[in-house]
Amino acid sequence: MLYLVGTPIGNMGDMSSRGIEILSSVDVIACEDTRRTGLLLQHFGIEGKLFSYHEHNKAAKGPVLVNMMKEGADVALVSDAGMPSINDPGEDLVKLCIENELEVTAVPGPVAAITALVLSGLDTTKFHYEGFLPSAGSDRRKRIEALKAFNETVIIYEAPHRLMKLIDELMEAGFAQNKAAFCRELTKKYEEVLRGSVEEAKKHFEQIPPKGEFVICLECKGEVEKKEVVDPDELIKELASQGLPTKKIASEVAAVTGLSKKELYERALRLLK
Ligand code: SAM
Repeated sequence: MLYLVGTPIGNMGDMSSRGIEILSSVDVIACEDTRRTGLLLQHFGIEGKLFSYHEHNKAAKGPVLVNMMKEGADVALVSDAGMPSINDPGEDLVKLCIENELEVTAVPGPVAAITALVLSGLDTTKFHYEGFLPSAGSDRRKRIEALKAFNETVIIYEAPHRLMKLIDELMEAGFAQNKAAFCRELTKKYEEVLRGSVEEAKKHFEQIPPKGEFVICLECKGEVEKKEVVDPDELIKELASQGLPTKKIASEVAAVTGLSKKELYERALRLLK
């Protein structure tokens, strides 16, 4: 039988007693990082047989685990943090077990996405879990564009070194005034939730550079209103008369109108020559 066991996302106090019981009793604990899970087991005084199972060996190791279970072994799967299968390995092993008619159960634990959602102050009745966006390129741009169609809270995982880039991209796509919650270091000593518009978050993180693990909850209300009521040409001229450089003008006008920064840059060059 396979047990999907949730582990803490920062605070050891969040490990459930059933999780400890299962990890103490199974024959094998499959985990992403044996050193990291070793520390978890040590913390709770659990002696377990660890088996490495991660993104890069799962195709080969999944069938090995399935064979163990077919021979009667109980296997627990844990990830480095949170619930296995949620932006972590697990899904493929669950599918393999189902195909092989092996029983699967879950011992639920914390999930960063849900922890952030309930703290966000945004709509919790309908939400979309996006996880990590593609790290760069047109795939990333397309996903951000696709968020405009959502009419619910969108939950995004992002690395701290890409957070400012994400904020700029969201603003460029027209989300500058959308409400958001930037949730950092959840359940840990320096837990913080910054609530406000995306634009306000930008100002905050320009002062205090982002550090630690982040989940972003973004209020999405269907197609982002393209605020064409503001005439972009008029605004470009007005900002130019204030002496702003063309690049800055393009980003300011993009934030207000929801139009593309690149297009506006070219438009400003044409208008102001
Ligand atoms: N399986 C995990 C779960 O159940 O949420 C997700 C693992 S995913 C590889 C790691 C990402 O989750 C981090 O980059 C961050 O976006 C988010 N995350 C995990 N722990 C977090 C925490 N304590 N505070 C904020 N975000 C966290």
